[in-house]
Amino acid sequence: MPPLCLACHRPLAAHSAICARCWAEIDFIRAPLCDCLGIPLPFDIGGPMISAAAAADPPDYDRARAVARFDGVMRELVHDLKFRDRHDGRRLFGQWLVDAGGELLADADIVVPVPLTRTRLAGRRFNQSAILAQEVAQLSRRRYEPLALLRRRRTRPQVGLSRAQRRDNVAGAFAIADGKRQELASAKVVLVDDVITTGATARACARVLKRAGAARVDVLALALVTDAAFLSP
Ligand SMILES: [Zn+2]
Repeated sequence: MPPLCLACHRPLAAHSAICARCWAEIDFIRAPLCDCLGIPLPFDIGGPMISAAAAADPPDYDRARAVARFDGVMRELVHDLKFRDRHDGRRLFGQWLVDAGGELLADADIVVPVPLTRTRLAGRRFNQSAILAQEVAQLSRRRYEPLALLRRRRTRPQVGLSRAQRRDNVAGAFAIADGKRQELASAKVVLVDDVITTGATARACARVLKRAGAARVDVLALALVTDAAFLSP
């Protein structure tokens, strides 16, 4: 197979790459950012800043970082990874994640993916977050811990739910696997997901990890929904 652009599938010189035209259409998230939610901020005051959204409703995780906004080419790439069984981008995605999450990974102990339920995993055959987390762990030389966090039940899509409904929707959905508490005690955890939409899933996972004794839980994702509707309480 000749190498193709991961997004538009036109011929390219190298595998696991994106053509210049598609690259230019990805809305990479760059500083200045909210130190907590990882959303872009309009101005730089020269130190760590917290957005109004983070101050109004502090999440259970410490910091979130994402590679790009969830739209256009990035939405297509995430969709391909999630539903079309296309894993040829994993190397590039891993590199992007390590670049975006440099601060988070610098002193992290373990990398944990957001889990899928067993039935959903069986239907899809793979967990896209686990694929990303594995790449991140390998590239950053951190311990990969795919089985620490379990998903006990499916949750409804968060889109269109109020903040209270989103919290109820994910309440009790995640748990720590038997025998993994020891590893999580005092650990600095980087939780990897494909997309942060409302943040409710990341919050629920962080809550469970912190209750198990994790010293820090940061979230690292390929894409972030920066739509104001999700950031308002
Ligand atoms: Zn392209």
